[in-house]
Amino acid sequence: MTTTDVLNPATGQVVATVPSSSTDETDAAIERSRGAFDSWRQVSPGDRARLLRRFAAVVDAHLAELADLEVRNCGHTIGNARWEAGNVRDVLDYYAGAPERLTGRQIPVPGGLDVTFHEPLGVVGVIVPWNFPMPIAGWGFAPALAAGNTVVLKPAELTPLTALRLGELALAAGLPEGVLTVVPGKGSVVGERLVSHPAVRKLCFTGSTAVGKRIMAGCAERVKRVTLELGGKSANLVFADADLAAAAAAAPAAVFDNAGQDCCARSRILVQRSVYDEFLALLEPAVRAFRVEDPALPTAQMGPLISAGQRATVSSYVEGAEVAFTGSVPAGAGFWYPPTVLLAGSPAERHWREEIFGPVVSVLPFDGETDAIRLANDTEYGLSGSIWTRDVGRAIRVARGVESGNLSVNSNSSVRYWTPFGGMKQSGLGRELGPDALHAFTDVKNVFIAS
Ligand code: NAP
Ligand code: MG
Repeated sequence: MTTTDVLNPATGQVVATVPSSSTDETDAAIERSRGAFDSWRQVSPGDRARLLRRFAAVVDAHLAELADLEVRNCGHTIGNARWEAGNVRDVLDYYAGAPERLTGRQIPVPGGLDVTFHEPLGVVGVIVPWNFPMPIAGWGFAPALAAGNTVVLKPAELTPLTALRLGELALAAGLPEGVLTVVPGKGSVVGERLVSHPAVRKLCFTGSTAVGKRIMAGCAERVKRVTLELGGKSANLVFADADLAAAAAAAPAAVFDNAGQDCCARSRILVQRSVYDEFLALLEPAVRAFRVEDPALPTAQMGPLISAGQRATVSSYVEGAEVAFTGSVPAGAGFWYPPTVLLAGSPAERHWREEIFGPVVSVLPFDGETDAIRLANDTEYGLSGSIWTRDVGRAIRVARGVESGNLSVNSNSSVRYWTPFGGMKQSGLGRELGPDALHAFTDVKNVFIAS
């Protein structure tokens, strides 16, 4: 059996050794999932809802264990990891309300009765990245299961531990064998097989734009349904009329949270020129005070990066760039990188254009509302972003002008499980979360009965 060593990014030590599944093992898991679908789709909506609520309750009883596992496997701060485990519980509870409300329509048609059904698709493949293993898995499997599908979940090779545990907890909660199957392994093996296997009817992918394009191309071969949540380079727009102290206090967490390994990171700060110097003067102490330390400590605001490779990628963006100021990191082993603020001489600079996926933010001045919107949209991405202003009219105009799936005004918030989440342009396709995500896991069937 092939295996992979899983490291603790805060120490570089091996925390577990996990099987790396083969194509044959992936096929076997897909076949079991396909078999389980035949009975899962027949489970009454009320019983499906009860099982999902029980799954949520079992997750709730294991929050501390799941959070601890994520701290050790991902270097997430303990505060974040608790939120992430709680998010899986909440999303399961939220979609547990769905099976009994998944209603079709009766359409007035001459000569008979016409009705629609929202049919489950079958086996759904959920492919998850290493940056938020728990929530992203839950956003895929909870609505998919609620709609009557079965799920094969592939965690990222670097971070499989909580996914494997969630698979065990699903069984402990009474979900039938094969309804949620976790297959650890490589993207090039397990991931590619989920895309090519004819029994997998939909791919729900979160990860890089490059791999997302490949998955979409593979899904086209069989006209498979696909949801893509991809990269980002989101803008944090600070207008001169904003509460500058609040904007500067919020800006570090908006990009350094999860060590910047966040698709919603506001990694481009755009500041109106008249308050540019004042804003940087407020930002500097906030960045220097950002606590980077052992992520298991309750005071930690940021832990290490996921891997040595990711650290090398991040530092390649900082070399040769104009550094305004940085935070600090603890001494010792671990894949640490300090919070770093770069000044962008122009929007052509590489660190301004590309997703870095690390604790690095670039700052650029702008001249007015039109200029701000133009610069915010000068990117292939469109996932998230913030607008800081006290002018309600401006907030509305700019929010309508920025091409992005999720915007917040005077806030860093991106993800609320009640509301749709996803990207415009090359940040993705389709939406997760909220009430409508359910329909991304069904096909509409129309039936006409002659009278
Ligand atoms: P990635 O390299 O695209 O990998 C994501 C997942 O896809 C992993 O499970 C990976 O497996 C798998 N994979 C790799 N190659 C594959 C292939 N050819 N076929 C099928 N699956 C394949 O992304 P990452 O480096 O883990 O994560 C960082 C990226 O995710 C960033 O770009 C970030 O913006 C994006 N992201 C987006 C969102 C969002 O909601 N929009 C949320 C979080 C992250 P292995 O682990 O084995 O390589
Ligand atoms: Mg990758």
